[in-house]
Amino acid sequence: SDVIELTGVWRTYPGGVTAVRSVDLTVAYGELVAIVGPSGSGKSTMLHLIGTLDRPSQGSVRIDGYDVATLSDRQLSALRARRIGFVFQQFHLAPGRDAVANVADGLLYAGVARKEREWRAEAALVRVGLGDRLTHRPHQLSGGERQRVAIARAVAGDPAVLLADEPTGNLDSVSGAGVVELLRELNSAGTTVLVITHDHAIADGLPRQVPMRDGEVV
Ligand code: ADP
Ligand code: ADP
Repeated sequence: SDVIELTGVWRTYPGGVTAVRSVDLTVAYGELVAIVGPSGSGKSTMLHLIGTLDRPSQGSVRIDGYDVATLSDRQLSALRARRIGFVFQQFHLAPGRDAVANVADGLLYAGVARKEREWRAEAALVRVGLGDRLTHRPHQLSGGERQRVAIARAVAGDPAVLLADEPTGNLDSVSGAGVVELLRELNSAGTTVLVITHDHAIADGLPRQVPMRDGEVV
């Protein structure tokens, strides 16, 4: 079955720019997919639609079986907190908090109790290869390690899909390759992963590419 199902989706912004036009896209549970296209092709808008941070102007978006149009903003927040993991180019870690706390904090809105947040955070950090960095704060970690903490935070709640927006954009090529390899490993272990990138070198190594241009899947 499909974790992402976009049917006839359009998104026109108030100023009149149509950023996504007539897109059909399905992603099955268990896939590893890259949406790839140049700047301005509509990738961020797609990420916002799939991440339920935005609603389509036309067409239907179903995520993890839920039709976004039938859910209130409050229900969408709950869906995001429990079923979608986000990773960004900027790692968005809290500077004063150690790795465990940064990951555990990500489970607050999913309503997970404190003790369980902590052991889940530690388990997630072990999964991403940071079992020996649990009490390091972000400034004590390399760029690649920071992004691994962010990935641990995104998968700690066992989301239906991990959305990674230019996850290597702030990393040197070696750290970036390590992050892509980690995403592959998480996918092999069962996590559905959607990567958004302008970088063909990253997309080319992945099993499925969805190329975008001028708001359309081409
Ligand atoms: P990408 O992520 O591939 O660079 P975007 O989805 O950010 O593409 O942008 C697609 C198009 O939509 C661009 O022409 C951009 O200028 C426009 N756009 C993006 N966000 C907004 C917005 N909030 N308001 C108006 N236009 C926007
Ligand atoms: P790189 O240059 O490969 O990004 P660094 O030289 O910054 O890595 O760090 C090497 C290792 O030392 C990293 O794995 C990081 O976790 C650790 N480290 C870096 N700074 C500190 C620090 N201030 N305290 C503790 N560990 C640190």
